[in-house]
Amino acid sequence: MTKIPKVGFVSLGCPKATSDSERILTELRAEGYIIAPNYSDADLVVVNTCGFIDAAVEESLDAIGEALAENGKVIVTGCLGAKGDVVRQAHPRVLAVTGPHATEAVMEAVHAHLPKPHDPYLDLVPAQGIRLTPDHFAYLKISEGCNHRCTFCIIPSMRGDLVSRPIGDVMQEAENLVNAGVKELLVISQDTSAYGVDVKYRTGFWNGRPLRTRMTELAAALSQLGVWVRLHYVYPYPHVDEVIPMMAAGKILPYLDIPFQHASPKVLKAMKRPAAAENTLARIKAWREICPELVIRSTFIAGFPGETEADFQMLLDFIEEAQLDRVGCFTYSAVEGATANALADHVPEQLKEERRARLMELQADISADRLAARVGQTMTVLVDEITEEGAVARSYADAPEIDGVVVIENPAGLVPGEFAKVRITDSGEHDLWGEVV
Ligand code: SF4
Repeated sequence: MTKIPKVGFVSLGCPKATSDSERILTELRAEGYIIAPNYSDADLVVVNTCGFIDAAVEESLDAIGEALAENGKVIVTGCLGAKGDVVRQAHPRVLAVTGPHATEAVMEAVHAHLPKPHDPYLDLVPAQGIRLTPDHFAYLKISEGCNHRCTFCIIPSMRGDLVSRPIGDVMQEAENLVNAGVKELLVISQDTSAYGVDVKYRTGFWNGRPLRTRMTELAAALSQLGVWVRLHYVYPYPHVDEVIPMMAAGKILPYLDIPFQHASPKVLKAMKRPAAAENTLARIKAWREICPELVIRSTFIAGFPGETEADFQMLLDFIEEAQLDRVGCFTYSAVEGATANALADHVPEQLKEERRARLMELQADISADRLAARVGQTMTVLVDEITEEGAVARSYADAPEIDGVVVIENPAGLVPGEFAKVRITDSGEHDLWGEVV
């Protein structure tokens, strides 16, 4: 019979700390751990500390010391844990330290050092979960909610502020997906570049190794799984620069999905867009210098309230200059509850449509030129399906469902979900054609 893992628990401090302890104990029991009555029966000990006054600090440090001496495997949480240095200086052997109200982080540390017991009911669900996508690509959701308040959007009022998933859980899910045969991971959220802001980039664990809850660190860890990693919904914050060299080195796909939405500073301000003040064109130029193969997809809104012809011209100039690979454009539409509805100078419907068409016409030529430049190149593609006309595949430049495809006209021997090398023979406005080499 498999041994059920046992956790010892020491709870110090005020009623708030006790309530934290209850939450952690409930979670431990819900996952099937047994709470051990003493140090010697436990496989690991959690100490919930207090750091309110000096005497409480002393008592907490003593309790950690005792647990280390009696058991050896100790995770520290609670108010003294917020002063991680104090704990680590006194007891460098502790496995992990978290602050108060950190049930998820404590559970993550417990999972890292004492794996969850087998659950005959939950374990009927495959490790990679139930998925609606084909077997070879999968969406990896890293957070829920958003800290921004773009005036055209009601997501924060529906889903609340940003809540990042623990990085250990995200990595475990990614690993399960790859083990189940997934070849492409699509990282999604409302704001991927903000990953970890809500937990102050807390250090989590993956395979027993510390890992910060942050986009760059996540991308680096995902790159070790040996599959395509594609980043969606990234905003051009300064730290996005950190992932570009990873793209140039072939660690993650040189592809960024950045919803710029507009280019006029006045409109961006009225939209309250994140990173609106960044000099986007200069950033794009610098990224392409480091990673010339970088593909950028974006979306824009035409006819936002207050958008003048001059603002729109600024957007067209940006489109011309930025030479983005893939672009979607929507006309502004008033969503119930969005604060932009109260802005002055709504643009008439017909004018919005006209502007959208002008933007898309300009972009169609740019996209077509960028695709035409690929003719003659050899590209690695991932085969999505085999149809009567040939195989439908995608290169690093194509995210599933939103971008174009590569149609392979000699598909003999190709299998969906496998990679192939293809020489590009022809191009259109959205798609490429090629043959297996
Ligand atoms: S549009 Fe703005 S507010 Fe809405 S989810 Fe995206 S970043 Fe957040």
